[in-house]
Amino acid sequence: MNYISSLRCIECRTEYQAAPGVYTCPSCGPLQGILDVVYDYQKIKEDYNVQTLEASPDHSMFRYLPFLPVNPESPRPHLRIGWTPLYRPSGLARAFGFNNLYIKDDGQNPTASLKDRASAIAAIRAVEEGMTTIACSSTGNAASSLAGNAAAMGLTTFIFVPGRAPQGKIAQLLIFGANVISVQGSYNDAFRLSAEAIERWGWYNRNAAINPYLIEGKKTVSMEIAEQLHWKVPDWVAVSVGDGCTIAGVWKGFTDLYRVGWIDKLPKLLGVQSSGCSPLVDSFLENRPWRPTGENTIADSIAVGVPRNPEKALRAVRESEGTMVAVSDQDILDAMRLLGRTSGIFGEPAGVAGLAGLRYLAGNGVIGSDETIVAIVTGNGLKDVHNAIAAAGEPIRIGPSMQLLVKELSWRGLD
Ligand SMILES: *Cc1c(COP(=O)(O)O)cnc(C)c1O
Ligand SMILES: [Zn+2]
Repeated sequence: MNYISSLRCIECRTEYQAAPGVYTCPSCGPLQGILDVVYDYQKIKEDYNVQTLEASPDHSMFRYLPFLPVNPESPRPHLRIGWTPLYRPSGLARAFGFNNLYIKDDGQNPTASLKDRASAIAAIRAVEEGMTTIACSSTGNAASSLAGNAAAMGLTTFIFVPGRAPQGKIAQLLIFGANVISVQGSYNDAFRLSAEAIERWGWYNRNAAINPYLIEGKKTVSMEIAEQLHWKVPDWVAVSVGDGCTIAGVWKGFTDLYRVGWIDKLPKLLGVQSSGCSPLVDSFLENRPWRPTGENTIADSIAVGVPRNPEKALRAVRESEGTMVAVSDQDILDAMRLLGRTSGIFGEPAGVAGLAGLRYLAGNGVIGSDETIVAIVTGNGLKDVHNAIAAAGEPIRIGPSMQLLVKELSWRGLD
Protein backbone atom coordinates (compact mmCIF):
# COMPACT_ATOMS: atom_id res chain seq x y z
CA MET A 1 0.00 0.00 0.00
CA ASN A 2 1.02 3.66 -0.15
CA TYR A 3 2.25 5.87 2.71
CA ILE A 4 -0.67 8.31 2.80
CA SER A 5 -1.89 8.98 6.32
CA SER A 6 -4.70 11.47 5.56
CA LEU A 7 -6.03 14.27 3.37
CA ARG A 8 -6.04 17.64 5.14
CA CYS A 9 -8.21 20.60 4.14
CA ILE A 10 -5.99 23.65 3.58
CA GLU A 11 -8.80 25.89 4.85
CA CYS A 12 -10.29 24.31 8.00
CA ARG A 13 -7.47 21.75 8.53
CA THR A 14 -9.90 18.88 9.07
CA GLU A 15 -8.28 15.55 8.19
CA TYR A 16 -10.06 12.97 6.09
CA GLN A 17 -9.33 9.35 5.33
CA ALA A 18 -8.20 9.01 1.72
CA ALA A 19 -10.89 7.15 -0.24
CA PRO A 20 -12.09 6.94 -3.85
CA GLY A 21 -14.20 9.95 -4.77
CA VAL A 22 -12.89 12.14 -1.92
CA TYR A 23 -11.39 15.13 -3.74
CA THR A 24 -12.29 18.22 -1.72
CA CYS A 25 -13.39 19.11 1.82
CA PRO A 26 -17.16 18.59 2.15
CA SER A 27 -17.58 21.43 4.64
CA CYS A 28 -15.48 24.04 2.76
CA GLY A 29 -16.69 23.04 -0.72
CA PRO A 30 -14.83 22.44 -4.00
CA LEU A 31 -13.56 26.03 -4.41
CA GLN A 32 -12.02 26.65 -0.96
CA GLY A 33 -11.75 23.14 0.41
CA ILE A 34 -8.62 22.00 -1.45
CA LEU A 35 -7.04 18.98 0.20
CA ASP A 36 -3.39 18.36 0.93
CA VAL A 37 -2.02 14.81 0.91
CA VAL A 38 -0.27 13.99 4.20
CA TYR A 39 2.10 11.02 4.47
CA ASP A 40 3.40 8.95 7.33
CA TYR A 41 6.81 10.58 7.15
CA GLN A 42 8.10 8.59 10.13
CA LYS A 43 7.35 5.34 8.33
CA ILE A 44 8.98 6.57 5.12
CA LYS A 45 12.09 7.43 7.12
CA GLU A 46 12.15 3.96 8.61
CA ASP A 47 11.86 2.27 5.21
CA TYR A 48 14.03 4.56 3.02
CA ASN A 49 17.01 6.86 3.17
CA VAL A 50 19.07 8.94 0.77
CA GLN A 51 21.39 6.02 0.01
CA THR A 52 18.61 3.57 -0.90
CA LEU A 53 17.09 6.24 -3.09
CA GLU A 54 20.33 7.11 -4.87
CA ALA A 55 20.89 3.42 -5.58
CA SER A 56 17.52 3.14 -7.33
CA PRO A 57 17.82 1.99 -10.94
CA ASP A 58 14.48 3.70 -11.73
CA HIS A 59 15.30 6.81 -13.75
CA SER A 60 11.82 8.28 -13.75
CA MET A 61 9.61 10.13 -11.28
CA PHE A 62 8.75 6.74 -9.78
CA ARG A 63 12.08 6.58 -8.02
CA TYR A 64 10.22 8.66 -5.39
CA LEU A 65 7.48 6.04 -5.05
CA PRO A 66 7.18 6.19 -1.22
CA PHE A 67 6.17 9.86 -1.61
CA LEU A 68 3.56 9.12 -4.26
CA PRO A 69 -0.15 8.47 -3.71
CA VAL A 70 -0.20 5.19 -5.63
CA ASN A 71 0.19 1.57 -4.67
CA PRO A 72 3.60 0.18 -5.66
CA GLU A 73 1.99 -2.82 -7.38
CA SER A 74 -0.42 -0.76 -9.50
CA PRO A 75 0.10 -0.73 -13.28
CA ARG A 76 1.87 2.42 -14.53
CA PRO A 77 2.25 4.06 -17.91
CA HIS A 78 5.28 2.52 -19.64
CA LEU A 79 6.44 6.03 -20.64
CA ARG A 80 9.58 7.51 -19.07
CA ILE A 81 8.17 10.37 -17.04
CA GLY A 82 10.39 12.71 -15.07
CA TRP A 83 14.12 12.43 -14.33
CA THR A 84 14.55 15.27 -16.79
CA PRO A 85 17.95 16.93 -17.12
CA LEU A 86 19.17 19.76 -14.92
CA TYR A 87 21.53 21.87 -17.01
CA ARG A 88 23.88 24.69 -16.16
CA PRO A 89 24.21 26.62 -19.43
CA SER A 90 27.07 29.06 -18.98
CA GLY A 91 26.06 31.32 -21.89
CA LEU A 92 22.62 31.82 -20.39
CA ALA A 93 24.10 32.51 -16.96
CA ARG A 94 26.34 35.19 -18.49
CA ALA A 95 23.43 36.75 -20.34
CA PHE A 96 21.47 37.00 -17.10
CA GLY A 97 24.26 38.02 -14.76
CA PHE A 98 23.67 35.06 -12.44
CA ASN A 99 26.67 32.83 -11.72
CA ASN A 100 24.79 29.72 -10.60
CA LEU A 101 21.81 29.44 -12.91
CA TYR A 102 20.35 26.03 -13.71
CA ILE A 103 17.60 24.99 -16.11
CA LYS A 104 15.38 22.03 -15.32
CA ASP A 105 14.15 21.06 -18.76
CA ASP A 106 10.77 19.51 -18.16
CA GLY A 107 9.90 19.91 -21.81
CA GLN A 108 11.71 16.57 -22.12
CA ASN A 109 8.81 14.59 -20.71
CA PRO A 110 6.96 12.12 -22.99
CA THR A 111 4.30 14.60 -24.08
CA ALA A 112 6.73 17.51 -23.69
CA SER A 113 5.55 19.22 -20.52
CA LEU A 114 5.78 18.99 -16.73
CA LYS A 115 2.09 18.03 -16.70
CA ASP A 116 3.05 14.42 -17.48
CA ARG A 117 4.05 14.09 -13.84
CA ALA A 118 0.48 14.80 -12.76
CA SER A 119 -1.30 12.96 -15.55
CA ALA A 120 0.61 9.76 -14.85
CA ILE A 121 -0.76 9.84 -11.31
CA ALA A 122 -4.27 10.53 -12.61
CA ALA A 123 -4.13 7.56 -14.97
CA ILE A 124 -2.76 5.20 -12.30
CA ARG A 125 -5.34 6.26 -9.73
CA ALA A 126 -8.18 5.98 -12.22
CA VAL A 127 -7.21 2.36 -12.82
CA GLU A 128 -6.79 1.78 -9.06
CA GLU A 129 -10.34 3.06 -8.58
CA GLY A 130 -11.69 0.82 -11.33
CA MET A 131 -12.46 3.66 -13.76
CA THR A 132 -12.09 3.36 -17.52
CA THR A 133 -12.75 6.95 -18.61
CA ILE A 134 -10.91 10.10 -17.48
CA ALA A 135 -11.85 13.69 -18.26
CA CYS A 136 -10.28 17.07 -17.78
CA SER A 137 -10.40 20.62 -18.96
CA SER A 138 -7.13 22.24 -19.78
CA THR A 139 -5.38 25.12 -21.43
CA GLY A 140 -3.56 22.42 -23.42
CA ASN A 141 -0.77 20.58 -21.64
CA ALA A 142 -2.81 18.90 -18.92
CA ALA A 143 -4.95 17.66 -21.76
CA SER A 144 -2.19 16.42 -24.03
CA SER A 145 -0.38 14.76 -21.15
CA LEU A 146 -3.55 13.11 -19.91
CA ALA A 147 -4.35 11.87 -23.41
CA GLY A 148 -0.84 10.42 -23.77
CA ASN A 149 -0.70 8.77 -20.37
CA ALA A 150 -4.25 7.43 -20.72
CA ALA A 151 -3.37 6.01 -24.14
CA ALA A 152 -0.40 4.26 -22.54
CA MET A 153 -2.74 2.73 -19.95
CA GLY A 154 -5.60 1.85 -22.33
CA LEU A 155 -8.04 4.37 -20.88
CA THR A 156 -10.64 6.49 -22.69
CA THR A 157 -10.40 10.30 -22.37
CA PHE A 158 -12.73 13.25 -22.81
CA ILE A 159 -10.82 16.50 -23.06
CA PHE A 160 -12.29 19.99 -22.88
CA VAL A 161 -10.03 22.70 -24.31
CA PRO A 162 -10.66 26.40 -24.84
CA GLY A 163 -10.97 27.39 -28.51
CA ARG A 164 -7.59 29.20 -28.48
CA ALA A 165 -5.42 26.15 -27.58
CA PRO A 166 -2.49 26.00 -30.05
CA GLN A 167 -2.51 23.47 -32.89
CA GLY A 168 0.50 21.51 -31.64
CA LYS A 169 -1.36 20.57 -28.48
CA ILE A 170 -4.58 19.74 -30.34
CA ALA A 171 -2.55 17.52 -32.67
CA GLN A 172 -1.18 15.64 -29.66
CA LEU A 173 -4.69 15.08 -28.29
CA LEU A 174 -5.97 13.72 -31.55
CA ILE A 175 -2.96 11.48 -32.10
CA PHE A 176 -3.38 10.04 -28.59
CA GLY A 177 -6.97 9.17 -29.47
CA ALA A 178 -8.75 11.56 -27.09
CA ASN A 179 -12.35 12.66 -27.56
CA VAL A 180 -11.59 16.37 -27.96
CA ILE A 181 -14.27 18.93 -27.11
CA SER A 182 -13.08 22.36 -28.26
CA VAL A 183 -15.17 24.79 -26.23
CA GLN A 184 -15.63 28.07 -28.04
CA GLY A 185 -15.08 30.24 -24.97
CA SER A 186 -12.56 30.92 -22.22
CA TYR A 187 -10.68 28.39 -20.11
CA ASN A 188 -13.22 29.07 -17.38
CA ASP A 189 -16.04 28.07 -19.75
CA ALA A 190 -14.21 24.86 -20.65
CA PHE A 191 -13.62 24.10 -16.95
CA ARG A 192 -17.29 24.59 -16.04
CA LEU A 193 -18.55 22.44 -18.88
CA SER A 194 -16.11 19.64 -18.03
CA ALA A 195 -17.19 19.72 -14.38
CA GLU A 196 -20.83 19.29 -15.39
CA ALA A 197 -20.01 16.49 -17.80
CA ILE A 198 -17.89 14.66 -15.20
CA GLU A 199 -20.79 14.90 -12.78
CA ARG A 200 -23.27 13.63 -15.33
CA TRP A 201 -21.28 10.68 -16.71
CA GLY A 202 -19.28 9.80 -13.59
CA TRP A 203 -15.84 9.96 -15.24
CA TYR A 204 -12.56 10.11 -13.31
CA ASN A 205 -11.73 13.78 -12.68
CA ARG A 206 -8.25 14.97 -13.65
CA ASN A 207 -9.00 18.64 -13.04
CA ALA A 208 -5.87 19.64 -11.25
CA ALA A 209 -6.98 21.73 -8.29
CA ILE A 210 -9.92 19.48 -7.47
CA ASN A 211 -7.93 16.27 -7.53
CA PRO A 212 -5.45 16.46 -4.62
CA TYR A 213 -3.20 13.71 -5.97
CA LEU A 214 -1.99 15.54 -9.05
CA ILE A 215 0.25 17.97 -7.15
CA GLU A 216 1.88 14.87 -5.67
CA GLY A 217 3.07 13.95 -9.14
CA LYS A 218 4.23 17.47 -9.90
CA LYS A 219 6.26 17.64 -6.70
CA THR A 220 8.70 15.08 -8.08
CA VAL A 221 10.28 17.87 -10.15
CA SER A 222 11.61 19.33 -6.89
CA MET A 223 12.76 15.98 -5.56
CA GLU A 224 14.77 15.56 -8.74
CA ILE A 225 16.24 19.06 -8.47
CA ALA A 226 17.31 18.32 -4.88
CA GLU A 227 18.83 14.96 -5.81
CA GLN A 228 20.52 16.31 -8.96
CA LEU A 229 22.12 19.03 -6.84
CA HIS A 230 23.24 16.35 -4.36
CA TRP A 231 20.70 17.48 -1.77
CA LYS A 232 22.01 21.03 -1.73
CA VAL A 233 18.82 22.99 -2.07
CA PRO A 234 18.96 26.00 -4.40
CA ASP A 235 18.31 29.48 -3.03
CA TRP A 236 15.58 30.16 -5.61
CA VAL A 237 13.31 28.16 -7.86
CA ALA A 238 11.50 30.10 -10.58
CA VAL A 239 8.37 28.74 -12.24
CA SER A 240 5.38 30.03 -14.16
CA VAL A 241 1.93 30.14 -12.57
CA GLY A 242 -1.52 29.57 -14.06
CA ASP A 243 -3.96 27.67 -11.83
CA GLY A 244 -1.24 27.48 -9.20
CA CYS A 245 -0.92 23.70 -8.96
CA THR A 246 2.57 23.56 -10.40
CA ILE A 247 4.12 26.01 -7.95
CA ALA A 248 2.21 24.36 -5.10
CA GLY A 249 3.63 21.04 -6.25
CA VAL A 250 7.14 22.47 -6.43
CA TRP A 251 6.76 23.57 -2.81
CA LYS A 252 5.30 20.23 -1.69
CA GLY A 253 8.28 18.38 -3.13
CA PHE A 254 10.76 20.38 -1.09
CA THR A 255 8.66 20.36 2.11
CA ASP A 256 8.23 16.57 1.90
CA LEU A 257 12.00 16.12 1.63
CA TYR A 258 12.49 18.55 4.51
CA ARG A 259 10.05 16.57 6.66
CA VAL A 260 12.04 13.37 6.25
CA GLY A 261 15.27 15.27 6.87
CA TRP A 262 16.89 14.64 3.48
CA ILE A 263 17.37 18.37 2.95
CA ASP A 264 18.10 20.95 5.61
CA LYS A 265 16.68 24.10 4.05
CA LEU A 266 13.93 25.22 1.70
CA PRO A 267 14.25 27.41 -1.40
CA LYS A 268 12.51 30.69 -2.04
CA LEU A 269 9.95 30.45 -4.81
CA LEU A 270 9.60 32.95 -7.64
CA GLY A 271 6.14 32.67 -9.18
CA VAL A 272 5.73 34.34 -12.56
CA GLN A 273 2.66 35.28 -14.58
CA SER A 274 2.12 37.34 -17.70
CA SER A 275 1.07 40.94 -17.08
CA GLY A 276 -1.87 40.23 -19.44
CA CYS A 277 -3.20 37.68 -16.96
CA SER A 278 -1.80 38.06 -13.46
CA PRO A 279 -4.53 37.56 -10.85
CA LEU A 280 -2.21 35.80 -8.40
CA VAL A 281 0.76 38.14 -8.82
CA ASP A 282 -1.54 41.13 -8.27
CA SER A 283 -3.05 39.51 -5.20
CA PHE A 284 0.41 38.73 -3.82
CA LEU A 285 1.96 42.14 -4.49
CA GLU A 286 -1.07 44.13 -3.34
CA ASN A 287 -1.70 41.80 -0.41
CA ARG A 288 -5.41 41.40 -1.11
CA PRO A 289 -7.72 38.57 -2.20
CA TRP A 290 -7.36 37.63 -5.86
CA ARG A 291 -9.88 38.79 -8.43
CA PRO A 292 -10.69 37.25 -11.82
CA THR A 293 -8.87 38.92 -14.74
CA GLY A 294 -8.83 38.79 -18.52
CA GLU A 295 -6.65 36.22 -20.29
CA ASN A 296 -4.60 38.45 -22.59
CA THR A 297 -1.32 36.64 -23.09
CA ILE A 298 0.40 34.53 -25.70
CA ALA A 299 1.47 32.16 -22.90
CA ASP A 300 -1.63 30.02 -23.31
CA SER A 301 -0.68 27.50 -20.60
CA ILE A 302 -0.79 30.23 -17.95
CA ALA A 303 -3.67 32.23 -19.44
CA VAL A 304 -5.85 31.48 -16.43
CA GLY A 305 -8.05 34.41 -15.39
CA VAL A 306 -9.86 32.34 -12.75
CA PRO A 307 -7.17 30.23 -11.06
CA ARG A 308 -8.35 26.96 -9.53
CA ASN A 309 -5.72 26.60 -6.85
CA PRO A 310 -5.03 30.18 -5.73
CA GLU A 311 -4.62 29.57 -2.00
CA LYS A 312 -2.15 26.72 -2.28
CA ALA A 313 -0.07 28.75 -4.74
CA LEU A 314 -0.05 31.96 -2.68
CA ARG A 315 0.71 30.08 0.52
CA ALA A 316 3.60 28.30 -1.14
CA VAL A 317 5.20 31.57 -2.20
CA ARG A 318 4.61 33.21 1.19
CA GLU A 319 5.82 30.24 3.23
CA SER A 320 8.95 30.09 1.11
CA GLU A 321 9.56 33.81 1.67
CA GLY A 322 9.76 34.15 -2.08
CA THR A 323 8.04 36.59 -4.37
CA MET A 324 5.98 36.90 -7.53
CA VAL A 325 6.34 39.04 -10.64
CA ALA A 326 4.39 39.70 -13.80
CA VAL A 327 6.29 40.00 -17.07
CA SER A 328 5.09 41.23 -20.44
CA ASP A 329 4.56 38.95 -23.40
CA GLN A 330 7.54 40.68 -24.99
CA ASP A 331 9.69 39.70 -21.99
CA ILE A 332 8.50 36.12 -22.46
CA LEU A 333 9.37 36.10 -26.15
CA ASP A 334 12.78 37.61 -25.36
CA ALA A 335 13.43 34.89 -22.78
CA MET A 336 12.43 32.21 -25.30
CA ARG A 337 14.88 33.55 -27.84
CA LEU A 338 17.65 34.09 -25.32
CA LEU A 339 17.27 30.61 -23.86
CA GLY A 340 17.27 29.05 -27.30
CA ARG A 341 20.34 30.81 -28.60
CA THR A 342 22.47 30.62 -25.49
CA SER A 343 21.66 27.05 -24.48
CA GLY A 344 19.92 25.04 -27.20
CA ILE A 345 16.82 24.61 -25.05
CA PHE A 346 13.44 25.32 -26.64
CA GLY A 347 10.63 26.35 -24.30
CA GLU A 348 7.05 27.30 -25.01
CA PRO A 349 5.99 30.78 -23.81
CA ALA A 350 4.60 29.58 -20.46
CA GLY A 351 7.60 27.27 -20.26
CA VAL A 352 10.05 30.15 -20.11
CA ALA A 353 7.97 32.63 -18.12
CA GLY A 354 9.84 31.69 -14.92
CA LEU A 355 13.08 32.54 -16.65
CA ALA A 356 11.62 35.81 -17.93
CA GLY A 357 10.75 36.66 -14.32
CA LEU A 358 14.34 36.04 -13.26
CA ARG A 359 15.60 38.29 -15.99
CA TYR A 360 13.15 40.95 -14.88
CA LEU A 361 14.52 40.77 -11.33
CA ALA A 362 18.16 40.50 -12.35
CA GLY A 363 20.17 43.39 -11.02
CA ASN A 364 17.47 44.82 -8.75
CA GLY A 365 18.89 43.23 -5.60
CA VAL A 366 16.12 40.73 -4.86
CA ILE A 367 18.29 37.86 -6.07
CA GLY A 368 22.03 37.97 -5.49
CA SER A 369 24.27 37.19 -8.46
CA ASP A 370 25.95 34.32 -6.59
CA GLU A 371 22.77 32.68 -5.36
CA THR A 372 21.91 29.26 -6.76
CA ILE A 373 18.86 29.50 -8.99
CA VAL A 374 16.85 26.88 -10.83
CA ALA A 375 14.40 27.95 -13.53
CA ILE A 376 11.99 25.20 -14.48
CA VAL A 377 11.19 25.12 -18.20
CA THR A 378 7.72 23.62 -17.96
CA GLY A 379 6.90 22.92 -21.60
CA ASN A 380 8.58 22.45 -24.98
CA GLY A 381 8.49 25.14 -27.64
CA LEU A 382 7.47 22.83 -30.49
CA LYS A 383 3.98 22.83 -29.04
CA ASP A 384 3.53 26.39 -30.21
CA VAL A 385 5.66 27.19 -33.24
CA HIS A 386 3.61 30.26 -34.09
CA ASN A 387 4.88 32.12 -31.03
CA ALA A 388 8.36 30.69 -31.45
CA ILE A 389 8.61 32.35 -34.84
CA ALA A 390 7.19 35.53 -33.35
CA ALA A 391 10.05 35.37 -30.84
CA ALA A 392 12.85 34.45 -33.20
CA GLY A 393 11.93 36.05 -36.52
CA GLU A 394 11.69 34.71 -40.05
CA PRO A 395 14.33 32.76 -42.03
CA ILE A 396 16.46 34.34 -44.74
CA ARG A 397 14.48 33.73 -47.94
CA ILE A 398 16.41 33.59 -51.22
CA GLY A 399 16.32 31.82 -54.59
CA PRO A 400 18.55 28.75 -55.10
CA SER A 401 21.60 30.70 -56.30
CA MET A 402 25.10 31.06 -54.85
CA GLN A 403 25.32 34.60 -56.16
CA LEU A 404 22.20 35.58 -54.26
CA LEU A 405 23.49 33.85 -51.13
CA VAL A 406 26.82 35.68 -51.26
CA LYS A 407 25.03 38.99 -51.72
CA GLU A 408 22.53 38.34 -48.96
CA LEU A 409 25.10 37.22 -46.38
CA SER A 410 27.36 40.13 -47.17
CA TRP A 411 24.46 42.59 -46.90
CA ARG A 412 23.62 41.15 -43.48
CA GLY A 413 27.25 41.14 -42.36
CA LEU A 414 27.15 37.36 -41.94
CA ASP A 415 30.00 36.49 -44.33
C1 LIG B 1 0.09 24.17 -16.72
C2 LIG B 1 1.35 24.85 -17.04
C3 LIG B 1 1.90 25.82 -16.20
C4 LIG B 1 1.26 26.32 -14.94
O1 LIG B 1 0.78 25.34 -14.06
P1 LIG B 1 -0.45 25.70 -13.11
O2 LIG B 1 -0.65 24.51 -12.28
O3 LIG B 1 -1.62 25.97 -14.02
O4 LIG B 1 -0.08 26.90 -12.35
C5 LIG B 1 3.10 26.38 -16.58
N1 LIG B 1 3.72 26.02 -17.72
C6 LIG B 1 3.22 25.09 -18.54
C7 LIG B 1 3.97 24.75 -19.78
C8 LIG B 1 2.02 24.48 -18.24
O5 LIG B 1 1.53 23.57 -19.07
ZN1 LIG C 1 -12.35 22.29 5.06
